Amino acid sequence: MLKFTPILLAVLYAFAMYRFSVWRTQRELDAQSTELADPTLKRMTDRLAKALDLPRIKVHIYEIDPVNGLAAPDGRIFITRGFYRKFQNGEVTAEEMASVIAHELGHVALGHTRRRMIDFSGQNALRTALAMILSRLLPGIGVWIANGLTSLLAARLSRGDEYEADEYAAALLTKAQIGTQAQKSLFQKLESLTEARGGAVPAWLMSHPKTHERIAAIEKLEAKWS
Ligand SMILES: [Zn+2]
Repeated sequence: MLKFTPILLAVLYAFAMYRFSVWRTQRELDAQSTELADPTLKRMTDRLAKALDLPRIKVHIYEIDPVNGLAAPDGRIFITRGFYRKFQNGEVTAEEMASVIAHELGHVALGHTRRRMIDFSGQNALRTALAMILSRLLPGIGVWIANGLTSLLAARLSRGDEYEADEYAAALLTKAQIGTQAQKSLFQKLESLTEARGGAVPAWLMSHPKTHERIAAIEKLEAKWS
């Protein structure tokens, strides 16, 4: 029994973490967001809504500076104030904003947001359990190995989600007659932004696979669909 105690503790910890992260994320987003009210972007989201046979798509502004788009576990879509500012000053087009919204809609539609919360707390639990076991076997470096293994697993899981969300967005943008060009040009813009800022990666790219690989994946879809 004593042998399994670390694992049992880790499972309980994971469950508590999951409940806590959902609650904390929701509270943080409620406190720091407002509904997006932009007539140009509304025309874009209306086209996406029509393609999905939905009355409308609600988008919220999350009041933080890092350039990012996100989907909450409850299915709400957020664009950060920093990202919206890039649209307002003309650095990012309405079509490109639509491509971010379509990508986040993909995460919601494909059930990634809920699973990601579970993944995230599951990863913490796995890290804790592995660290407890490995540091007993390999004092000193056990924790380090546990961290490395968990991060590797996390990266593999999220990469798959990103390609799926891109594919969903590409299909939706095609159906809404906005096209996939904006998707690709935004990736390139964000990447050159990274270079201009001396390697500080925008948050939206950081959690995503390499730009040229994402563009190549979209071009493969275009070839398949044309
Ligand atoms: Zn994503």
